[in-house]
This record gives sequence, structure tokens and C-alpha cells, in this order.
Amino acid sequence: MSQNNQNNTDHNFDPNLFLPQEPVKLFDDYYFIGNKLVGFHVLKTSVGLVLFDAMDKYDVDDEFLIPGLQKLGLDQEPIAMLFLTHGHFDHYLGAEKVRLRTGCEVALSKEDAAFMVYSLDNYEDKEDLRVPRITRLVEDGEDLAFGDHTVHVIGAPGHTPGCLNYSFEVHEGEETHRIIMVGGYGVFGPGAYPGREYPYSVTYAVDQALTFATSCVKTWEYCKANRCDVYLNPHPHLCDLYPLDERNKNRKAGEPNAFVIGLEGVRKWIVERFDVCLESAQKFTDIQKEL
Ligand SMILES: [Zn+2]
Repeated sequence: MSQNNQNNTDHNFDPNLFLPQEPVKLFDDYYFIGNKLVGFHVLKTSVGLVLFDAMDKYDVDDEFLIPGLQKLGLDQEPIAMLFLTHGHFDHYLGAEKVRLRTGCEVALSKEDAAFMVYSLDNYEDKEDLRVPRITRLVEDGEDLAFGDHTVHVIGAPGHTPGCLNYSFEVHEGEETHRIIMVGGYGVFGPGAYPGREYPYSVTYAVDQALTFATSCVKTWEYCKANRCDVYLNPHPHLCDLYPLDERNKNRKAGEPNAFVIGLEGVRKWIVERFDVCLESAQKFTDIQKEL
């Protein structure tokens, strides 16, 4: 779930938001397939495709992934791994069908593999709720090699107990860039829970908000040390994915790729998340200062 949709119920959404969009090519070896709310991120490596997240319905494999890969000319590539950022249904519901069709590994933290099954967050009127089998547990600091690419795992708890960020290099021509792909956005607590009353305690909500704030700092320290210059989120509206693609479509020869926002651009996105965490921690308790 994302902060932006937590105050809406599905029937308030414009139906156009759910329609498949044209797949986006961000770099020579990186793509996005989805709708205006959520999607699959696709990294092309020398040993096949590495996917990040699997959208919000069981059957997105047929509706989004297969036709999207065909349009991109990637449908003959094996799928080496499907990484999940976190255990909210809008990120994992399509994973099991992709796993059963392709035999790919599905990776997540052990905390969210459990959270996915037991959390109340995932039990709101979801008839097609099918929790995928997690075949590969990953943890903070791990590096997973896929031929010519390596995916680094960053534990970033707070949005969920085992939320993950991923970082890896992508290429355009002679240039190399480093993506920071972040998991969730925002924290849940009293007064901020999708469609109903918050089911956990105030102290748990504040603890998660502050934990997420710490994760933002940790993510930023990683980005500085590794010169991340591209910021992405599985929700396209939480990383300006379609507006940046529009800019790239109008790009003239020699102009930079709009997705390359530099370390300072990355910092701005992380600052926004950090602020949301700190404001939430205060909002969730009645011993807060005036906001
Ligand atoms: Zn979420």
C-alpha cells in the first residue's frame, strides 16, 4: 500500500488508472511495465530478466507482464528472479502466477514473508488474495549476482517490518548509472489506515514511523557512499515515472536521460519520505506538539 492511496477506497479511483500503459524503456537494460498506479520493474542482465514487484492482482502476468515483455522484445528471456520490496498486496499479488509459469525464484525478507501471511493490512475485501511462495529469503547487505549485474539489498523497515530497498547499476550507451529502488512510502497509524480503524497500538505505530525515519537516513547514507543518481519506486506516481518518460520522448540528441536526477535529486525524494515519517510519529500520539 502507498501513502497516496491510503485515504481512498478502490471505487473512488478513476478506472483509467488501472489500464495497462505502454511499457517504458528507462535505460538500455531497464524497463517498467504497469498501469498508472503500480507495475513491474524489469532489469535485463546477461543471464535473463530480474523483476522487482508484481502488482496488485493475481492475473497481472497475462494482462500486463506477458504482453509488455512482447512489446519490448524481451519475451524470450528467462526470468531469473522476482524481488519483492515488501509484503503489501499491491506489490505481491501477481507473483505466484509468474512463479508458476516461469519457475523463477521469488525473493523477500523473512520478516515480510511472515508479515504477508499474518498482517491485518492484507485482509481488506481482497477475494483474490494469494500469497506467493517465497523461495529465496534475502537480508540487509546481501549482494546477488546475475551475470553482468549485481543487486544489493538494503533492509529499510518501517513501512512494513521487513521492507526492502534494492540498488544496482544500469546503462545507457557508454554511461553507467546507479538506481536506488525504494520499497514503501509512508507509515500507518491511528487516523491513517486504509478504509477503517487502525488495528494496532499507538506505540507500535509511532515505533514504525520512527523506524522508517531511521531507514530513510540509512538509505541516504548508502546513496551518498555509492553515488546513486536514479530514484525509483514500484508506484510510478511516487517517482514521477511517466512525466520523466515524457521528457525523454522529447529528448534531443546529446540531452541527458531525464531519469538521471543526480545525488541531489535522490536526496530530495528521501527528504520527503523522512518528513512524512517524522510528521506521522507526532500525528499518531496525543502528546505531540502542534503541527
Ligand atoms: Zn506498501
